[in-house]
Amino acid sequence: MWEHLPPLDSFKGIGTKRLEQFARLGIRSAADLLQHFPRGYEDWSAPVLACDAPLGEPCCVRATLITSPTTHRIRKGLTLYKCVAFDGLSRIQITLFNNPYLAEKLRRDEDYYFYGVVTTAPLAMASPQIEPADRPPRIRPLYPLTEGLSSRMVEGAVRQALEALRKAALPDPLPLEIRQKNDLCDRLTALEQIHFPTDHLSLAAARKRLVFEELLTLQLGMLQMRLHQHTAVPPTITRDTTAEFLQLLPFSPTNAQARALREAVADMRGDKPMNRLLQGDVGSGKTAVAAGLAFVAIRNGWQAALMAPTEILAEQHARSLEKLLAPAGITVGLLLGSTPAAQKRQIYAGLADGSIQLAVGTHALLSAQVQFNRLGLVITDEQHRFGVTQRATLSAKGVTPHRLVMSATPIPRTLALILYGDLDISVLDELPPGRQPVATYAVGSDKRERAYNYIQKHLDEGKQGYLVCPLVEEGESDLTPATQLFERLSTGRFAAYRLGLLHGRMKGAQKDAVMAAFARGELDLLVSTTVIEVGVDIPNAAIMVIENAERFGLAQLHQLRGRVGRGKAASTCILISDAQNEEAKRRLRVMCDTNDGFRIADEDLKLRGPGDFFGHRQHGLPQLHIADLSADMGLLSQAQHTAHAILATDPALDAPAHRGLAELVAHLYDRVGGSELN
Ligand code: ADP
Ligand code: MG
Repeated sequence: MWEHLPPLDSFKGIGTKRLEQFARLGIRSAADLLQHFPRGYEDWSAPVLACDAPLGEPCCVRATLITSPTTHRIRKGLTLYKCVAFDGLSRIQITLFNNPYLAEKLRRDEDYYFYGVVTTAPLAMASPQIEPADRPPRIRPLYPLTEGLSSRMVEGAVRQALEALRKAALPDPLPLEIRQKNDLCDRLTALEQIHFPTDHLSLAAARKRLVFEELLTLQLGMLQMRLHQHTAVPPTITRDTTAEFLQLLPFSPTNAQARALREAVADMRGDKPMNRLLQGDVGSGKTAVAAGLAFVAIRNGWQAALMAPTEILAEQHARSLEKLLAPAGITVGLLLGSTPAAQKRQIYAGLADGSIQLAVGTHALLSAQVQFNRLGLVITDEQHRFGVTQRATLSAKGVTPHRLVMSATPIPRTLALILYGDLDISVLDELPPGRQPVATYAVGSDKRERAYNYIQKHLDEGKQGYLVCPLVEEGESDLTPATQLFERLSTGRFAAYRLGLLHGRMKGAQKDAVMAAFARGELDLLVSTTVIEVGVDIPNAAIMVIENAERFGLAQLHQLRGRVGRGKAASTCILISDAQNEEAKRRLRVMCDTNDGFRIADEDLKLRGPGDFFGHRQHGLPQLHIADLSADMGLLSQAQHTAHAILATDPALDAPAHRGLAELVAHLYDRVGGSELN
C-alpha cells in the first residue's frame, strides 16, 4: 500500500546529507516520515496579550512593530537586534541574537506573531520566533530531532509526503464500518491533522484514529498468534509425577511453589497447550517450579527447553538443574551462542534424536539448526527481555508445546493481558522459609567509610559482597566510576581482599569469567555497574553497597538488592546518596521500608508515572509510534473488541476489505524482527 508513495530522495530539498540525517531518525521512506509523529506542538492558534502570558512558558503574542530593529554589536560574535512591539495594551521589548536575516525582514508598522517566553518588568521576549500576521495562526508541529535537522526541515518534508499521499489516493486500511462504529476519521485526514492540526478538536480526533489503528494492529497480531495456539494440539501429559520430583528437591516446596506446580500440571493435562505466567519476586524460587514442570514433561516422554536471557543465567540454570535432575537419569544440554561449533553440533544431534531431554540455553536455542525430537514444554526466564516473535519461534519448533514464562517484574494485569493474551497467572507470593528481609539503610557519602567497614566485617566472616556504582568511566565527574573505584580500592582500602570488576564495556566472555569466579567464591567483593545479572543466585553474598543510589529507579534498586538475601544469613544493603530533593529521598525511603517487589512497583508507578514501566521496550512488544499503553487503556479495550470481531469471521485477514489491516500487522511485527505470526 505504502509502496505507491515516491521515494524520499525525490522530495524537494532532500539530498544525500538529508537522507542520512533522516535515516538516523529511522526514516527511510515517505511512509516512515508520515509516521514520524510530532512530539509536541507549538500553539500559535490562540494569541494572548503579553500581560496575560503564562509564566515561564512559551506562548504566541500578536503585536505591531512600533520601532525598526536597531543593531548593537556587543562584542565579536555577538550582535543584538532590538525593537519594540505593541499588542494593543502593552509594549514588548523584542531582542534577537545574531539573527540579521530575521531582523532584515522586520518592518515597522507591520503585524507579527511572536512565539516565545514573555518575561516581565519590563515586558520582553528574547529570541522569539516571528511570523507575519497575514496568515491565520495555527498549531505547529515539533518533531523529534537529530543533529543538523530542524523541526522546520522535517515539516517541509512531511508536507511533501502528505501531498504525495493525497495524490496516491490510497484506500483506508480501516474499513468504513469500523470507522463509523468507533467514531474515527479517515486516515488521510488523521495524518494531515496529526502533523498540521487546524484546531485542538481535530488534533484529538486525528490522534484517536491513529492510536486506535495502532492498537488494533497490535491486537490483531497478538490474537492471531493466540488463535494458532488455541487450535493447536497439546503434547499429552497423562502422568502427574510431581511427587517423584519433590523427592529430588533438597528442600520442601513453599506453599506457593506447590500451588504453582499444581496449577501448571493441571494445565498441561488439559486439552489445549498451557500458557501460563509465573510471577514471583526475586528469590521466591521460580527455578524449582520450572524444574518440576520440566521433570513432569520429561517423565511423560517429552523434551523440555528453558531459555534464559543471558549466558550467565543459562549456565547457572544448567548447573542447578543438572545437579537436581541428573540423579533421576535426566540428561541436560547447555546451548549458548559462545558454545564451540563442534560441541554445538553434538547438542543439535542430541536434541534431534531426543537423547538430550532438557535443553537449557540463550536465544541460541532459537537458531534454525535447533530441531527437537519431541519438544513438549518451553520455559522462558525473565520473559520481558524477549520479543513476542522470539517466543513464537521457539514454540513453533515442536507440536505446540506447553509454555511457561517466568518473571520477577510485577506486571500490571492489564499489560499482562495484552502481552500474553488470555494466559493464566500463578504468583509465588511467599519466600522460602528462613529468609530474612534485606536490612536496607540510606546514608550520606559522609558515612561511606562506615559502609566500607561494614563490608570488611562481612568479608572477614567469609561472606561476599557487591559494590555497585552507576557509571563505567569518566563521564559526569561528580560520580565515582566503577573502574577508578576498583583500582583505588584494590590497591588501597581493600588491598587485602580479592576484588573483581564487572562493567558493561567488558566482553561477554570476560564478564562471564568474573561472574563465575565470584560464584565459585574466588572473589570476595565485586565492584560493578548494574550489569550484575538479574537472577544471579549467589547465596553467600550478604552485603551490597550502592553508590549514587538516587540515580537508579526503584524497580532497578529492588532487582539489584535481590542479589543479596538469598541465603539463610541476614543481609544488608546500604544506599549511599547525597541527593537533597524530596522525590529522591522518598524513593530511597521506600527501599528502606519494604522488601516487597509488588509494593515497590506500585510506589514506582505512583512516583514516576507508568511511562517508565512501558518505556524501554522491556516488555518485548513491537515499537509503538503513537499509542501510549498506559494512557490509552480505553481505546485499547475498544480495539481489542474490534480485533476479536474481525478475526471471528476472517481469522487469516484474507478478505479484500482486510488487506490493508493485514499489511499493517505485517509491518508492525516486522519491526520486532522476523515476524512469524503463524
Ligand atoms: P528466583 O525466583 O529469584 O528465580 P531462585 O529460583 O533462584 O529464585 O531461588 C532462590 C534461592 O532459593 C535458590 O538458592 C534456591 O535453591 C532457594 N530455594 C528455592 N525454593 C526454596 C524452598 N522451598 N526452600 C528453601 N530454599 C529454596
Ligand atoms: Mg531466577
